[in-house]
Amino acid sequence: MTEFSLSRLPRIEFGACVLARLPALARGYGAHALLVTGAGSLKSSSFWPAVTAGLKAQGISWLHLAIPGEPSPQMVDEAVRALHLEPIDVVIGIGGGSALDAAKAIAGLLKPGNSVMNHLEGVGPELPYAGPATPFIAVPTTAGTGSEATKNAVLSVPGMDGFKKSFRDEKLVAEVALVDPDLLATCPPAVIAANGMDAFTQLLESFVSSRAAPLTDSLAWGGMKAARDGLLALYVGAGDAVARERMAYAALVSGIALAQVGLGSVHGLAAPLGAFFPIPHGVACGTLVAMATRINIEALRTREPAHPALGKYAQVGRLLSKQGHLDQEAAHVALIDTLEAWTHALGLPTLAHYGVTPADIPRIVADSRGSSMKTNPVLLEDSDIAAILAARI
Ligand SMILES: [Zn+2]
Repeated sequence: MTEFSLSRLPRIEFGACVLARLPALARGYGAHALLVTGAGSLKSSSFWPAVTAGLKAQGISWLHLAIPGEPSPQMVDEAVRALHLEPIDVVIGIGGGSALDAAKAIAGLLKPGNSVMNHLEGVGPELPYAGPATPFIAVPTTAGTGSEATKNAVLSVPGMDGFKKSFRDEKLVAEVALVDPDLLATCPPAVIAANGMDAFTQLLESFVSSRAAPLTDSLAWGGMKAARDGLLALYVGAGDAVARERMAYAALVSGIALAQVGLGSVHGLAAPLGAFFPIPHGVACGTLVAMATRINIEALRTREPAHPALGKYAQVGRLLSKQGHLDQEAAHVALIDTLEAWTHALGLPTLAHYGVTPADIPRIVADSRGSSMKTNPVLLEDSDIAAILAARI
C-alpha cells in the first residue's frame, strides 16, 4: 500500500436536526461568539430564530457579520481590523462556501490580527501562518464546497487583474463541522445544481489525483455513489429528505478527500475563471467537468496508457451508469456520457453566459497552473487546457 498521511479533521456531527446541537457545542468554547453568514436567505428562514434562541438560552452573546458574495482579502482584513480586540471565543460560520471560507479566514486571523495577504498562496510574501486560530464551527447550508472539512479559505479579487487564491493551513480546520441536511431544504435548484456538481467534481478529482490514497479513495467512492443517487433527485425536489442527506454527505466527504490529496484540472481552471469573470465556483466546475474528464482520459491513453487513473475513471463510469460489466473503453464513454447528461439536465450555463470569449482562453490557460492543476493525474499541455475551455464557450 502506498504511503499516506491523514491531516486533522473536524469533529463531525452529521444528520437531520443536528443544528439543534449548535448552541451547546458553541458554549463549550465560551460565551462570546462571532456569527458569520451569507447576506440573505438564512435570516429570513425558519432556522434563524431557532439558532438565535438557542444561543440566548446558552447565555451566548454574539456579533453578526454578513458576507455579500465571495469573500475578498479586503473583506477579511476589514473584519479582522474591526473585531480583533473583541472578546470572541468562537466563530460560527453558517452558510454556503463563501460564508464558511470568510468565517474560516477571519477565525484564523482574529487573534494574530495581521493581513491575510501575508499568507495567500501565489500572491504576496506567502509567510507561514503561526496561529493561533479562534475555534471555528462550520455549518454548511449548501451541499457543495466541503469547506466545513477543508483547511483552506478561498479568497477572490475579481476583475481582469484579479485572482482567486487560498489561505491554507491545518490550524484553520474547523473544530466542529455540523452538517444538517435539513438546511438544504431552502436551496434554490440552480444552487443545488452548481454546488452538487462542485462536490462531485471534487470527489472525482481527488479519486484520480496524482496523490490519491486508499483511505480517501474509499471516501470519494461512497461520496460519488451518494451523488449519483442524490444529485438529480435533489435538483428536482429539495423536499426529498433522502436526497438531501446524500448530497450533504457527498459534499462533506468531498471536502475531506480534497484536503488530503488535492484536485485536478477543473479546479485549476475554476480559479482564474472565477477571478476574471463573475462565474460562481460550482458553475465553473459543473460546466467543465465532462470535457475535462474527456481530455484527461484522452491524454492518459496517448501518453501514459498504463496509468492507474484510467482504470479508476472506468470504475467511476461503471458506478455512475450502473453497468458493472463494461470494459474499460466502454466505461470511459459511459462516464463522459453521464457527466454530459448531468450537465444538460441540471441546466448548467456555458462560459459565454458570463462573458467568456475565445480571445480570453490564453489568459485563462496561463493562470490555471495553481495548486489544483499540480495533482491532475496527467500533465496537460496548454492546448489540452484550451480545448476544455473552447468546448464550453
Ligand atoms: Zn470546488
